Order: sequence, then C-alpha cells, then structure tokens
Amino acid sequence: MSANPDVVMGVEVENPVMPYLRQDRLPHIWCPGCGIGTTVNCFARALTECGLDLDQTAIVSGIGCTGRVAGYLDLDSFHTTHGRAIPFATGLKVGNPDLKVVVYSGDGDLTAIGGNHFVHAARRNMDLLCICVNNFTYGMTGGQCTPTSPVGAKQTTMPYGNFEHPFNLPHLADACGAVYVARWTVYHVKQLTRAMKEGLNKKGFAFIEVLSPCPTLYSRRNRLGDGVDQVKYYKERSKINNDVDTKDLSLEFQGDITVGKFVDRERETWLDAMNNRFTSVIGDKYEPYGVTNGEK
Ligand code: SF4
Repeated sequence: MSANPDVVMGVEVENPVMPYLRQDRLPHIWCPGCGIGTTVNCFARALTECGLDLDQTAIVSGIGCTGRVAGYLDLDSFHTTHGRAIPFATGLKVGNPDLKVVVYSGDGDLTAIGGNHFVHAARRNMDLLCICVNNFTYGMTGGQCTPTSPVGAKQTTMPYGNFEHPFNLPHLADACGAVYVARWTVYHVKQLTRAMKEGLNKKGFAFIEVLSPCPTLYSRRNRLGDGVDQVKYYKERSKINNDVDTKDLSLEFQGDITVGKFVDRERETWLDAMNNRFTSVIGDKYEPYGVTNGEK
C-alpha cells in the first residue's frame, strides 16, 4: 500500500483513506452525489482502527454499483456473480477459518437474487460481516424495484409507484439469527465507522444496513433532488434509538428513519458448532479441506 499525498493550500496532506484503495483502479465509476463512496471512506477508517491484520482480511462483493467496492479496496477481494457474494464468502471462511471475511453489496444483490443466501448465513451464524448499502434501487441496471423499495416509490419497473411490501432488513437479519444488527445512513459517518469497526471485530453474522442516496436513478425518478438533498433528509428525519424492537424499523417513502445498533448478542457460530460436533463425534477438530488428521 502506498499513500498519495494531496496538496491543500501548498501543504502536503495525506488522505488517510488512500492507502486502503487500489489507486490504479481510480477514478471510480460512481456518479456525483452517490453515497457509496462515503461508505467506503467510513470502512477504510474502520480498517485503520479495528486492529485486524489486513493481510488476513478479505472482502467479497456481488454485482451492482456497490459491488464495485471489492475492486477498489486494497484487500484480498473477489467480485462474484449476481447475488452470490454470501455463498462465495461462506466458502472462503470455511476453507480459511482464520480470515476475517466481509461481504459488501447492495440491497438488490443481497436481498433479491441473494436473499436466500442472506437468510441462511444469518440462520447459521456464519462468521461474516455483511454490509448492505441500501439505496432502494438497482442502480447499475437502470433503476428497477428491489425488495427494499418503499411503497409509493417510482422505479422503472414500478412507474406508477411501488405497491409491494418491502423488507425491513434489520428485522429480517435479527429474526434469522444475526448476532449484530445496526442501521445508519451516510449522514452518520462517525456512527457508521464505529459500527463497521464493531462488525469487523464481532464473531458471527454481523449485519449493517447503510441508507445511501442514488441521485441518478432513485432520486431523479422520484423528484428528490440531488445527493446532498437526500443527506439533508437523513439528517432531518433520522432518530437514534438503540433500544427499539427491530420489527418497528420498517421504512416508508421519505418518512422518519430510526437508526442505531439494535442487536449485539453472542451465539455459537457455524464453524464453532462444526468443531464441537466433530470433537464430540470423532474426537478431532474440523480442519479445512475435509481433512481431520492434521494433514492437508
Ligand atoms: Fe450511485 Fe445510483 Fe450512480 Fe449507481 S446509479 S453509482 S447507486 S448514483
């Protein structure tokens, strides 16, 4: 990794995020006012503070605008096919139990095409940090409805307004068994950075939803202004409540937003359960690659 100092008013200033980016991949593809870059900034800062060995930290994304994140971060990374970030990450973790594995993708990728994988990773308590950038739309493919699009929101596939009931993602993750569940917006950069740091250090399935503007498609189609206008909306309509029941976290179109850390508990992870079962049944510890006698 190499730092690339900027010159501000004649003074060389080192951007703390640059060492975590693959600078040869820049400029990025994201539109002006998109919130995804802010989430990457928070994540890079969380990496500086989390105390993890970054040579033992991997990131996996699916398809979509958020799916580009794995390509820009200077970690071991993989950009999977649509919806398959979680199964790839699961295999990575099971085959390399010492790795910290992060899934970083959008609401369409994680909760529509990848929705089945999402619920089972939470159910199994697979040891992953799952960050979902929720902009209520499929950005890369043209602004279609996703499972999180609020009722009434206009999309290319819902030109008269969405009439489908959306997922409440924190409640879905909580109900399926996630051990850490939080929601923040790209306005809440300090809280989001702290949540990402906590998620990186959490054992088990940790889920963070980040509400983020898509000014090019979702905001334009719904006449919501630009990215700054949406961040102002997050500022004005968000309330922090860490104690709320996750079933009360549904979102309405441009309505009030409850943010916070809602779940932080301990539960046996899939790998720990596997080890315990191996130990109790065959008297040895599970090891990767299906070998239990220490040889690989
Ligand atoms: Fe961001 Fe939307 Fe542009 Fe995708 S289409 S980069 S989500 S603003």
